[in-house]
Amino acid sequence: QKRSEKGRVGVFDESLREHLLRELRLRDHLENAVHRHELFLVYQPIIATDTGKIDAVEALLRWRLDNEMIPPDEFIGVAEQYGFIRAIGLWVLGEACLAGKRMHAQSPELGISVNVSIQQLLDEDFPDEVAATLKHTDFPAHCLDLEITESLFAHDKRRLIDNIARLKKTGIKVSIDDFGTGYSSLSVMQEFHVDYVKIDRSFIWSMDTGGRAIVEAVSQIASAFDYKVVAEGVETEEQRRLLTNMGIEYLQGYLFLPPVSEEQLMQHLL
Ligand code: C2E
Ligand code: CA
Ligand code: CA
Ligand code: CA
Repeated sequence: QKRSEKGRVGVFDESLREHLLRELRLRDHLENAVHRHELFLVYQPIIATDTGKIDAVEALLRWRLDNEMIPPDEFIGVAEQYGFIRAIGLWVLGEACLAGKRMHAQSPELGISVNVSIQQLLDEDFPDEVAATLKHTDFPAHCLDLEITESLFAHDKRRLIDNIARLKKTGIKVSIDDFGTGYSSLSVMQEFHVDYVKIDRSFIWSMDTGGRAIVEAVSQIASAFDYKVVAEGVETEEQRRLLTNMGIEYLQGYLFLPPVSEEQLMQHLL
């Protein structure tokens, strides 16, 4: 008994050690990842339910380190923890606007959605940086949408409300991402004036096992506040059918396209 418990502790120590070593390795490389051209963006279409056409694309960050793709769910956290996310986030925004400008040659009103972290949003300079980026990339403000994760709203509320208001004054759109996974979802809809609510993919995937009522309720509440709804992680025709019947305005997921390179996206815009 005693021996096996000791063994378990040993295994735990080992995996914790590996975890920490990996984190430190990522931290050391991430600091220079932008300069080394290891970061790049891919784009996933967001489809307008009524027309079936690409309405916007979400820019998603990728990191190739020594031929290994590091998932964003892993390195974004490291970037946030070690203070790189503001610089990286600003680079992402600039790249996305430049790419959006190129895409506009093909699809003039195409929207670009960019994910932003809480640290960016809490930064007093952020709204001005967004305005400056729009200006020097010559990308139209009304085509840019910033996606904010709902759990962000656990932070300094006054600062957030203030910064979101300043951002909206530049003419950009704002979305609540991963809706339903954080807490105080309903009060968030009431307090923050955003444009879109993206229902988290876990709810879309649970639609055939009882999640349908949740998706329906969220969509109804969102409409009551005049927010347009995006369903993410749409993988099956059945999900598409249900979501279309509920009147959800936008769909995103592997059923349509996974995130693709700019060149591939251009082919689909043709
Ligand atoms: P997210 O914002 O919820 O992005 C959607 C994620 O779901 C993407 O994963 C996308 O590839 C994946 N996805 C889309 N449709 C489907 C589907 O039908 N099925 C499945 N199984 N997955 C689908 P990805 O690219 O790995 O990004 C993960 C997360 O990393 C993002 O979640 C976002 O929170 C974060 N992230 C990505 N890029 C950035 C960035 O530039 N800045 C910040 N702050 N966060 C980012
Ligand atoms: Ca997102
Ligand atoms: Ca999401
Ligand atoms: Ca997410």
